[in-house]
Amino acid sequence: MSENSTPTNFIRQIIEDDLASGKHSRIHTRFPPEPNGYLHIGHAKSIVLNFGVAEDYQGQCNLRFDDTNPHKEDEEYVEAIKEDVRWLGYEWAGLYFASDYFEQLYQFAVELIEKGKAFVCDLSAEEVREYRGTLTEPGRESPWRNRSVEENLDLFRRMREGEFEDGARTLRAKIDMAAPNMNMRDPALYRIRRGAVHHQTGDAWCIYPMYDFTHPISDALEGITHSLCTLEFEDHRPLYDWVLDNISAPCHPRQIEFARLNLEYTVMSKRKLTQLVNEGHVEGWDDPRMPTIAGLRRRGYTPASIRDFCNRIGVTKSDGTVEMGVLEAAIREDLDRRAPRRMAVLHPLKVVITNYPEGQEERLSGPNHPKDETMGSRELVFSREIWIDRADFREQANKKYKRLITGGEVRLRNAYTIICEEVVKDDEGNIVELRCTYDPDTLGRNPEGRKVRGVIHWVSAAAGVPAEVRLYDRLFSVPAPDGEKDRPFQDFLNPDSLKTVQAVVEPSLAQAEPGDRFQFEREGYFCRDTASKELVFNRVVTLRDSWGGG
Ligand code: ATP
Ligand code: MG
Repeated sequence: MSENSTPTNFIRQIIEDDLASGKHSRIHTRFPPEPNGYLHIGHAKSIVLNFGVAEDYQGQCNLRFDDTNPHKEDEEYVEAIKEDVRWLGYEWAGLYFASDYFEQLYQFAVELIEKGKAFVCDLSAEEVREYRGTLTEPGRESPWRNRSVEENLDLFRRMREGEFEDGARTLRAKIDMAAPNMNMRDPALYRIRRGAVHHQTGDAWCIYPMYDFTHPISDALEGITHSLCTLEFEDHRPLYDWVLDNISAPCHPRQIEFARLNLEYTVMSKRKLTQLVNEGHVEGWDDPRMPTIAGLRRRGYTPASIRDFCNRIGVTKSDGTVEMGVLEAAIREDLDRRAPRRMAVLHPLKVVITNYPEGQEERLSGPNHPKDETMGSRELVFSREIWIDRADFREQANKKYKRLITGGEVRLRNAYTIICEEVVKDDEGNIVELRCTYDPDTLGRNPEGRKVRGVIHWVSAAAGVPAEVRLYDRLFSVPAPDGEKDRPFQDFLNPDSLKTVQAVVEPSLAQAEPGDRFQFEREGYFCRDTASKELVFNRVVTLRDSWGGG
């Protein structure tokens, strides 16, 4: 599916080696989101990696909701995540919920207790912290560590039955309180959450398994071969392996870590994105300025451009921050290829063509794409009164200004050349209208013996259609908004991230469907908004990188 062939990376190398050595005859990966928010572009990196690898090696990829935390999760997010994965162009082999495994997980915990590898601990959260030690000092063993198997089995059963208060007891692995890796110091496997109502299991359970216990077992139950996750789980890998080594697991998947995606000029954690939504800084999860998949979709990004971006940034073991320009370049290139050209005047200035007959309208034709004839053409209407952009006129300018000046001549894209004869101003000296003449012999051909300054776009005043155009810019005005410890990231919101203008667009755009994308000539790429009934266009990206770099 990838338009540009996928560059290889260290994970693909491991997979190829495992296939070549016969360690695996098939590849099975999974994408395991927690349904506590919408997916963002960082998740896309993981999706493209997991689904992409499965696709390229004729394997399978599951979608598994990692839903072991009943407090933060919601059905709304489950549906949104499914929609986003499909929109990115992927279909899962199996759809699972970690909560489907609650009974099996419970039985594996019982197995650990029976083997003397887990115990019920009565220390409070605070005491557990005290006993844990530090990076330089070993921890101390819990006084409850040497309970008999029978007592542990009885207490764990009663935890399940709801006999004890939240926080009164936990089930912990019995590993090594002196382990240099803190995650191996008798980590918690289960905690009590009595009041919680889980979006899948309701009130069936009042104990919930921890991520480090749930994840390896879920992977093993699904026959996952390579469990790809981000670098912060590197220190958890010994525990991942310990769990699988100490239960009768059906197989032992290999966990491999890679660097998270960080992107400039935005924040990426679900917690912060939730804050942006709840505090009203954006319209919602699908606000076109959000780095969510839903936001990028509404903004006008294509699935292909996001997949391409993920392949361009690659997969490595070292953390870094990607310039926003890389993402913007991916959509710009995709839309340059596929977006039909249109004319839209964002800051309209009236032009009256004095030698064009009053009441006359002429049907002209404009190619949809300058380099792709197969895209055909659309009809344009020419009339005596037209709109041009205010930025395309100056009373005076030097030769470098390739637009209209008093007494100068320019070509109107796909139409005639005009000369500005007179500037009409109001009492305050504001330009309100230009009076021009046109040369009727210049349709599709250069004027005899003269050179025009440049080409500008225009829309017929008689046939043009009003539209709202939303000019989006970066949501934050600094590259690393969450980099400053003593200032909240909200301090760095870009006050100019949205500017709205009342534009006039060429008549064919009245038929644009929500989600249709265009290049507005000389302005940028635009997408008809999917959330507005009226004619509203979102700017996807400018024609050139105006931020420098990238
Ligand atoms: P966040 O910190 O944004 O809330 P998360 O890691 O808690 O993200 P999950 O729903 O647990 O979100 O993530 C699902 C999968 O996506 C995990 O395998 C995770 O490693 C991966 N993932 C999340 N964020 C990124 C990122 N920025 N870059 C690459 N992969 C990511
Ligand atoms: Mg998470």
